[in-house]
Amino acid sequence: MSRETRTVQALGFEDESSGALVPPVHFSTTFARDAEDYQTPQGRSYLRCDGATQELAEAILVDLESAEESMVFSSGIAACTAPFHGLKQGEHALISRTLYHGVLSFVKEFSESWGILIDYFETGNLEELEQKLIPGETRLVWLETPANPTWAITDLETAAKLTHQAGALLAVDSTVATPVLTRPLELGADLVCHSATKYLNGHSDVLAGFLAVRDPSLELWRRVKMHRKFGGTVLGSMEAFLLIRGMKTLHLRVQRQSQNALELARYLEAQGSINWVFYPGLESNPGYPIAKKQMQGGFGGMLSFLVSGGKKEALEVLSRAQVFKRATSLGGVESLIEHRKSSETVETETPDNLIRMSVGIEAVEDLLEDLRRMLQV
Ligand SMILES: *Cc1c(COP(=O)(O)O)cnc(C)c1O
Repeated sequence: MSRETRTVQALGFEDESSGALVPPVHFSTTFARDAEDYQTPQGRSYLRCDGATQELAEAILVDLESAEESMVFSSGIAACTAPFHGLKQGEHALISRTLYHGVLSFVKEFSESWGILIDYFETGNLEELEQKLIPGETRLVWLETPANPTWAITDLETAAKLTHQAGALLAVDSTVATPVLTRPLELGADLVCHSATKYLNGHSDVLAGFLAVRDPSLELWRRVKMHRKFGGTVLGSMEAFLLIRGMKTLHLRVQRQSQNALELARYLEAQGSINWVFYPGLESNPGYPIAKKQMQGGFGGMLSFLVSGGKKEALEVLSRAQVFKRATSLGGVESLIEHRKSSETVETETPDNLIRMSVGIEAVEDLLEDLRRMLQV
């Protein structure tokens, strides 16, 4: 059976007690112990540590990412920052410069002040990555591909090889690629992270995150598990249920979003008023050859473009949107458009004239017409 079929059927779930095909929501925070030996027959004792609804969501992600284990978190940022909580004072971590701003904010505000030695490399520049890796000392390399908000591409196979040569672990925020298009663990990464708020849930109505791992015996994974348990960042049961429901349509949504985005990107590229279009599926994009190799079946639903001028001109373009909703976030069925710099919480390299779009599953003609309206062409 294909991965797509397994995902649609929530791994073939059938409830043993009722025969229900839709997984129940287990709200109980506590679980019964045996009278005889005081054991928990199902291995669960308290919801912050173990929950059946959470475990089904985790099993689906394990299957999607070719992982060995996964953990579901209360948000994407809780998942992304957990590995940094797992590092110890004096340990070295390398992160790519073009990154979701929330992770950068966390690392600058907390990891650096806690004594984690953080260094940066240019996104996608593997020579710089190699130079900055300190063999035997670097513990973690963190990157995103395609990376917010320019969708710069990193060659994961080579990045993993270089990282491992230095004795470090590679963690990839794969929120934008989704496991439909790229499975970083199959390409050598050690950890993969998702803001499940985005494509995995897909309906802009759940805040959730995932981490998945290839080798659960890693010391870092043990500490990440401890952190979720004692930092209290597990996902609630209702959210886990909604996430399971959302993931059933993941493949269909991502295929349509990728098709729509490619069409919009080609349209934008043909417009004279646009200085530059950032989309890894355009042959003119420097990341295209690698994206073609490591993204299967599409290039994702995220694209950005630069307008002539600055923030004022960008906001004028946005003010004319009627189909695209002016809002941050991504990965939902409805198309969103935003002035990216206004959403970011930390000093980044995002230009003031950059507009970011999360392309949804609407009829592409309506999206094209809206773009024409926005650009007045
Ligand atoms: C949104 C996002 C996050 C943070 O996830 P939340 O669910 O908002 O906490 C992390 N990484 C990427 C790439 C994101 O887009």
